[in-house]
Amino acid sequence: MNRQQKEALKKLLGDRVRWDVSMAEHSTFRAGGRAEALADVGDREELQALVRWLRNSGVPWRIIGRGSNILVSGQGFAGVIVRLQGELASVKQERGAGHAGAGTVPVRAGGGCSMARLLAWCTGRSLAGLEFLAGIPGSVGGGVRMNAGAWGQAMGGLLQALEVLDDRGRLFRLEAGELRFSYRRLELAGLDPDRVIIVSAWFGLRLGRQTEIVARCRDYLARRREKQPAGVGSAGSFFKNPAGDHAGRLIEAAGLKGLARGDAMVSPRHANFIVNTGRATADDIAALMVEVQERVYRDSGIRLEPEVCIF
Ligand SMILES: Cc1cc2nc3c(=O)[nH]c(=O)nc-3n(C[C@H](O)[C@H](O)[C@H](O)COP(=O)(O)OP(=O)(O)OC[C@H]3O[C@@H](n4cnc5c(N)ncnc54)[C@H](O)[C@@H]3O)c2cc1C
Repeated sequence: MNRQQKEALKKLLGDRVRWDVSMAEHSTFRAGGRAEALADVGDREELQALVRWLRNSGVPWRIIGRGSNILVSGQGFAGVIVRLQGELASVKQERGAGHAGAGTVPVRAGGGCSMARLLAWCTGRSLAGLEFLAGIPGSVGGGVRMNAGAWGQAMGGLLQALEVLDDRGRLFRLEAGELRFSYRRLELAGLDPDRVIIVSAWFGLRLGRQTEIVARCRDYLARRREKQPAGVGSAGSFFKNPAGDHAGRLIEAAGLKGLARGDAMVSPRHANFIVNTGRATADDIAALMVEVQERVYRDSGIRLEPEVCIF
């Protein structure tokens, strides 16, 4: 950005824009290059104004949630990283709202709302359905974008509608029938999902027993603790599972558990986790990713695709 652009952005967002920010502090990998600017946006009008300005000035941008599935390259990001806060991170029940399936309670959550907050809010009101999200450290927007899931369920399965903003700053609502979810993927009719901001999402939940909801969450959390590395930086599973197989199985079969580049390591506990055991850089993680891809390909003929979004 040139000086004029920086001044215009400062005028638009005041102290909610920060400059030259280490993305290691905003990524669960605890690694990543620097972003030219990080902008926290608190309501729809501000978000629309920002996206229109970004488009008109040609400044590159990306939206992030809780940074639990991203890796910002060591070269950094020349542009603005946007995050949703305030009313765009809130959650509420929408009594009488349309489009609820029979017997379901419509809950609307802002794209910036953490899954942990949404889950706690639902549990407090005995609303069941999202327990499988327990322990996934993302946001509603990031989760919907990635169709996050676990234990055979995924977010797309409970979605009734989305409120989205396109890169021209236009807000609109998409109904469930206009959304295509598949494994860790969302397709929006005629729109590039990387150029769209998920502003809020409506979920159809059902009334349940609070004790049972709590028990299910605890069970899922315990299962995670058993399987996943703890106390290290990571972005969860690094690679997508190829059709009919598991990335972790292929990595383990290629003998790569414990393989390291700097402080980036293929977790000895869960082969599909690349972990940051200390001071790994984004370049260490990227180099390890490429090595794992090459060696798994040599071993099995299968090319692993990263699930982590690299920018
Ligand atoms: C320990 C650990 C365990 C995990 N376990 C699981 C698991 O069991 N299942 C699973 O699916 N994932 C898992 N993950 C990965 C990750 O938590 C999910 O993919 C999560 O949904 C990402 O949400 P986020 O807000 O952190 O997104 P980010 O990492 O911030 O962003 C991810 C992508 O979503 C986009 N995005 C973010 N917010 C928005 C928005 N509002 N509108 C449009 N696009 C947006 C970003 O541009 C980027 O492309 C795990 C991660 C960790 C660290």
